[in-house]
Amino acid sequence: MLISIIVPCYNEQEVIQITHNRLVSVLEEITPQFELIYIDDGSQDETANHLQQIQQRDQRVKVVLLSRNFGHQMAVTAGLDHVSGDAVVLIDADLQDPPEVIREMVNYWYEGYDVAYGVRTDRQGETPFKLWSAKAFYRIMNHLSDVAIPLDTGDFRLMDRRVVEALKMMPERDRFLRGMVSWVGFRQIAVPYQRSPRFAGVSKYPLFKMIRFAADGILSFSLVPLRVAIWAGILTVALSFLGILYALFVRLFTLSWVPGWTISFIAILFIGGIQLVFLGVIGEYIGRIYREDKRRPLYLVRERLGFEPISYNDNSYNVNPVSYAGKNSGKIP
Ligand code: UDP
Ligand code: MG
Repeated sequence: MLISIIVPCYNEQEVIQITHNRLVSVLEEITPQFELIYIDDGSQDETANHLQQIQQRDQRVKVVLLSRNFGHQMAVTAGLDHVSGDAVVLIDADLQDPPEVIREMVNYWYEGYDVAYGVRTDRQGETPFKLWSAKAFYRIMNHLSDVAIPLDTGDFRLMDRRVVEALKMMPERDRFLRGMVSWVGFRQIAVPYQRSPRFAGVSKYPLFKMIRFAADGILSFSLVPLRVAIWAGILTVALSFLGILYALFVRLFTLSWVPGWTISFIAILFIGGIQLVFLGVIGEYIGRIYREDKRRPLYLVRERLGFEPISYNDNSYNVNPVSYAGKNSGKIP
């Protein structure tokens, strides 16, 4: 049984060697059969060179260098397309997810679970704002989402091959992997762990990116924003109906119907405003349809190290043939 570890890396030169050493020492205790797949997500620092050196020294390492920065979720997706393990573990490069927890996850997998996902019981070294916003996000998300997404769960998890194959059949662009894994189903179990502070380097998720990521999560897994629009629309129509009755009454049964200007003016403004809000909501969804419709590859590979040469007729990489247009300098391990 082969266990694959996917590590997305973006400007992680300070930690990558230490992370590698720690992963290897943990994995060697679990199984002799493992592979480590590092995805360099277009780092501007020395990360790619470090990864190349690591790969040259260790046959169990494979490296995928993306052509530019595609973001964490795409880097992990690239990893999923390149694994060959029976179980696949996703872990961050900054040692915030302790590699020792992998052992527990693997034990659950041996017991027959298909997904063992890490749940953060405690997060050290994060700002109070990040703690608060993350907590709020997971709770709102759960209220709005169509599938139950476990609270306080990141992407640190083990997945069985079946789950990985299912994910590869989901080519959506606004990727929120932890939601997608919940959607897939199978037998899943939570593994509590303490999230450590970042070992070195800085977080690549500033506030703005966090908000975008939260929006991806909510809009890709929920139709609530659309439904809010419908209910608000019905309410508006009901109110304007009353308004029309009132206007007719004033017009037909009283003599003072000229001063009705105020209320109609307000009504026009109100309806105009509501319509703009709805247009925005609809626009957001249409924008997504448009983006999906372009069917661009999710990421592009610049170079591959440690893989067997790829034949473009090979159907094992069937998700996104275009994604494999990268140069392949892989030697057979
Ligand atoms: N990451 C990536 N591409 C990006 C941003 C981040 O591959 O555009 C990687 C990063 O190297 C790390 C993981 O994703 O391994 C999580 O990122 P980070 O630690 O910066 O996020 P945080 O833990 O602060 O939410
Ligand atoms: Mg981190």
